[in-house]
Amino acid sequence: MSIRERVRAIFKELPSGVTLVAATKTRTVEEIQEAIEAGVKVIGENYVQEAAKKQMVLGRGVKWHCIGHLQTNKAEQAVRLFDLIQTLDSWKLAEELNKRAFKKGLILPVLVEVNSGREPQKSGVFPEDVLIFVEKLSRLSNLSVKGLMTMGPLTEKPEEVRPFFRLTKDIFTEIERKQIPGVKMQFLSMGMSDTWRIAVQEGANMVRIGTAIFGPRTTGQP
Ligand SMILES: *Cc1c(COP(=O)(O)O)cnc(C)c1O
Repeated sequence: MSIRERVRAIFKELPSGVTLVAATKTRTVEEIQEAIEAGVKVIGENYVQEAAKKQMVLGRGVKWHCIGHLQTNKAEQAVRLFDLIQTLDSWKLAEELNKRAFKKGLILPVLVEVNSGREPQKSGVFPEDVLIFVEKLSRLSNLSVKGLMTMGPLTEKPEEVRPFFRLTKDIFTEIERKQIPGVKMQFLSMGMSDTWRIAVQEGANMVRIGTAIFGPRTTGQP
């Protein structure tokens, strides 16, 4: 199947109201262009440098999301490049992004990344700390919390990730109920190529798909 056919097949199966983010790390602009022509409206990039290069060619007719770990020293570029940061995971990064957004006179939409598996080597806020973190973020003038994102642990069987999606959805609902001023729980970003169906069943309304669109990655990071 071509990229075009795979995108169409995913759209056909994706319930309405669920946003497809094409995870495009290591993919060429030609490959991404084909996905865009098939209807992809949101590009998820992991690295600032790579996003900058591709954006010069592809432009801002599509939305650009940051889905990789973001270093504080890349905050300025990130504010310039991305329409949504899905991976806000520390107070230090929040302060830096807020400062940069203020300087540019814009409000930056962010998702808080949840380390739902509480894995030490992974970034993201531990489940028990998310609510307090979001409350703290709500006081930053130039960030706007729009929801949560999680990866979940890499598991043998896709089904094993379900409890971590469910946990993240529960946190999402809890925060929504608190009605924190300035916080709008709009997006729950969960699920990748082999887990997106499970994620959608557990309440995701945003999925990040790479391999199932572009085929196996031959270079770069997993
Ligand atoms: C690469 C990546 C994806 C997509 O993974 P696939 O298994 O290729 O679909 C989703 N989310 C993040 C954060 C990624 O880095």
